[in-house]
Amino acid sequence: MNSIYDYPLEDLKEYFVSIGQTKYRASQVFDWLYVKRIKKFEQMSNLKKELLNFLSENFSIENIKLIQKQEDVDVKKYLFELFDGNKIEAVLMKHNYGNSICVSSQVGCNMGCTFCESGRLKKVRNLYAFELVLQLLKVEEDINERISHIVLMGIGEPFDNYDNVMKFIKIINDPKGINIGIRHITISTCGIVPKIRRFINEKAGVNLAISLHAPNDDLRSKIMPINKVYKIKDIIDVVKEYINKTNRRVTFEYILLKGINDDKKCANELSNLLRGINCYVNLIPYNETSHIDYKTSQKVTINEFYDILKKNNINVTIRREFGSKVSAACGQLRSEQITRK
Ligand code: SAH
Repeated sequence: MNSIYDYPLEDLKEYFVSIGQTKYRASQVFDWLYVKRIKKFEQMSNLKKELLNFLSENFSIENIKLIQKQEDVDVKKYLFELFDGNKIEAVLMKHNYGNSICVSSQVGCNMGCTFCESGRLKKVRNLYAFELVLQLLKVEEDINERISHIVLMGIGEPFDNYDNVMKFIKIINDPKGINIGIRHITISTCGIVPKIRRFINEKAGVNLAISLHAPNDDLRSKIMPINKVYKIKDIIDVVKEYINKTNRRVTFEYILLKGINDDKKCANELSNLLRGINCYVNLIPYNETSHIDYKTSQKVTINEFYDILKKNNINVTIRREFGSKVSAACGQLRSEQITRK
């Protein structure tokens, strides 16, 4: 699938030169796509007919379809159909600081985290960069407002689709295009250590969030199979490396699962693990799903956990809950429709 939305500006210029066109023409196309937001090649009115014909014969331009929308207070969930019939979701959240969107990076996911609804569908394929870009463009079109923040926290493991995710970031960050600030983009990973190491060397400035969810290997391996491959110590080591090289703070996400990882012992253990690291912990009250047995921790337990971290001088916040009514909350991004065709 050769989509015109799959090209960062530099790549588009290179391609244009290879077909005997100028780099300037490529910049014009990029501008039509991302600034003027046209939908059809023929709308690119400052380009010659032959070039437009060539482009429409060689590239697709419209290939993700919005098929369903659900709304709740400050949140909208979008269901998209891809060119091959697969379905993915994106979620828009309205914050006081702007609009943020949570995008999917894969159809399904192979990480097998036991608490995650999205992972119940095994990975079917990676999303192309253009399918990530179009999630954003379609949502902006729907709300007729700009999106300021992006989190790669939808369906899929972004570091299991590394190259396309990086290409996506290049496209949306380009000041000549959508121009989303690099510090307004967050990648969340379950901890694929070699990819985190590679990510350090991108020097991209993108925010890094790690789904930790447990303070020791025994517990983490039980709920996150990836921990059998990369241990907590491997994660901590690479995170320290990341902080040293980038001087950026890392976020650790920690879902609170009732009776599993939410007691005082875990809170203290987590504090010890993270002491002295430039990070903050985002506590996520678990969103219950109909297919998985874990329960949400009680409010008092969540608050106690929070207090212990605070007392131990760990930066900590409790994530605001969005969209549980429309099953758009974390881990619930898998409606009944999302089955393999
Ligand atoms: N694979 C990546 C990106 C998905 S992020 C990662 O693991 O980070 C989605 C975030 O929501 C992760 O932190 C994930 O662990 C969390 N999550 C999954 N299921 C959840 C649920 N039912 N309730 C709350 N958070 C959940």
